Amino acid sequence: MSDNQLRLVWIYPDLLSTYGDQGNALVVERRARQRGLDVARLDVRSDQPIPTSGDIYLIGGGEDRPQRLAAERLRRDGHLYRAVENGAIVFSVCAGYQILGHEFINDLGQREPGLGLLDVTTVRGTAERCVGDVLADIDPRLGLPQLTGFENHQGVTRLGPTARPFAQVRLGRGNGTGDGTEGAYNDTVFGTYMHGPVLARNPLIADLLLKLALDVNALPPIDDRWYEALRNERIAAAQQPA
Ligand code: GLN
Repeated sequence: MSDNQLRLVWIYPDLLSTYGDQGNALVVERRARQRGLDVARLDVRSDQPIPTSGDIYLIGGGEDRPQRLAAERLRRDGHLYRAVENGAIVFSVCAGYQILGHEFINDLGQREPGLGLLDVTTVRGTAERCVGDVLADIDPRLGLPQLTGFENHQGVTRLGPTARPFAQVRLGRGNGTGDGTEGAYNDTVFGTYMHGPVLARNPLIADLLLKLALDVNALPPIDDRWYEALRNERIAAAQQPA
């Protein structure tokens, strides 16, 4: 961060924003402002270059064709690699998560290279599409409460040795591999299948991104009663028998 200004980059809202992903940008922005930070939010369309000087990058979910176009453009652009080399934080959801891995199956049924920023590989699941509410326990190393969200994906994502599972599901399918893992992360790059939008349902994940960007262990507390009410409502709804 420079000049006490947090630079938040939302990648390709024109292609990867099918599931209310703007909510994730709004939550990070608001929680940063509530801590007195000046925030410059940059929404980068897919015909624009990705800036390399961002602190936090968000990349959302999308349908199969826009996902392929986004992967092509991000590979061609190349700047997200540089941003991560510079220590940027990346938080990705579903299609965005798959794009950050080594490869996924595109809308033409072909293997599409990803960016390889996460050590994960996605294949097309042969079982029923993973759709529904999810509750999961986040890796205790990250010190976060239970994860709640909604998944909707056909892809099944396997983790390689340098990716850690972001969470273990109690309810839902997560990565779809049958081992209960959900999402993946390495030092500064995070991926999850959770929609919701996930940061509105799990605001302490937004705070984790802010702490990493600011390189601090704690942030001033803020009034989270509204978020808590939403979280509790969604957790209770997820636990209702279908
Ligand atoms: N197209 C991908 C899949 O179905 C991602 C879907 C999404 O972003 N919800 O696996």
